[in-house]
Amino acid sequence: MKPVAISIDHFVNQPSPERARALFKSSVTQVEIETFTYCNRRCRFCANSYIDRRSENRHMDEALYLRILRDLAAVDYDQAITFSRYNEPLADRVILDHIREARRLLPKACLSAHSNGDYLDAAYLESLRAAGLNRLRVQVYLGNEERFDDDRILRQMARRLKKLGLPYNMTAAFKGTRYMAQLVCEGMEVTLDARNFGVLGVDRGQTVLMPQSFERRSPCLVVFQHLCIDCDGTVVPCCNIRSDEPRHAPYVIDRLARRRSLFEAFADSPLVEWRRGLLTFGLKRQPCNSCSYECLSESGPLRERLDTMAREFGLDGAVRDGGAALIPAPAGLATGAAGLPPRLPS
Ligand code: SF4
Ligand code: SF4
Repeated sequence: MKPVAISIDHFVNQPSPERARALFKSSVTQVEIETFTYCNRRCRFCANSYIDRRSENRHMDEALYLRILRDLAAVDYDQAITFSRYNEPLADRVILDHIREARRLLPKACLSAHSNGDYLDAAYLESLRAAGLNRLRVQVYLGNEERFDDDRILRQMARRLKKLGLPYNMTAAFKGTRYMAQLVCEGMEVTLDARNFGVLGVDRGQTVLMPQSFERRSPCLVVFQHLCIDCDGTVVPCCNIRSDEPRHAPYVIDRLARRRSLFEAFADSPLVEWRRGLLTFGLKRQPCNSCSYECLSESGPLRERLDTMAREFGLDGAVRDGGAALIPAPAGLATGAAGLPPRLPS
């Protein structure tokens, strides 16, 4: 994937359709799309533990989905599309149609999905490959009441691997933290990933209580490179924010259902303000202040480079207060001693 190329255009609203489109094309490496809402699980490290995603399955409007794909086709999009948000993408086989349609309109894009693996078997994997999926990441979970345990997680991984019946290589083994296996599957990259969410989890926009508190000082490049679209066309700044969590309502950056384009959502929306507060090292505003997702390690040269960039772009004020004046603060969403506790999973 291409490295992020930051320019002044990221920090100023771009009402010109041409400039918005050009900025999108030069920046975006991942578009995440939730084409339906259902998830069969209620993992304790996910806000689905208290937000209902099981009693119904709402689908994205077909015309909206096609409009998203056509927007991407208009810039010859050749980066990643991920069919995942807070649904289980393999729970409804309509995903095969969605993948086929994306493959038809976007021959150069890398089509991927993150799954809990519950619905996956060898035949389904072959259907996904035939439809045009390039990459599948399967999370290996234990039961909701079980804590990460090396022996149990490896046994669960072995069961998943046996069900798929393909050769594999173990690519990561960190005791107590993470195991990964790469399947040998022609034409598709398939990875099984068993993570200890107590160690590697993220507080999901302060909706999930983590065992340890975390103070973010790192910049966040996600808001320069990704766009996340919920089932009803709502656009949010990153994968940790979800429009069906009422406390995240102030963080919604756009609504494609109102005939807005992907380019407008990226270049002429409140996402511009998020970038201003997330460019440099330093304290961050909610919900980013406790987010451990995609942190950069701080080094003198990197800090200096980003500070220089901020000065050149005239962002000193935004940077100093972590964007405090720029990102709206919702009521009832906070962590740490001074704030309310995040909501506990039921
Ligand atoms: S982590 Fe994934 S599988 Fe678990 S509840 Fe959330 S969306 Fe569903
Ligand atoms: S720092 Fe903020 S914008 Fe970046 S991933 Fe975390 S919550 Fe999202």
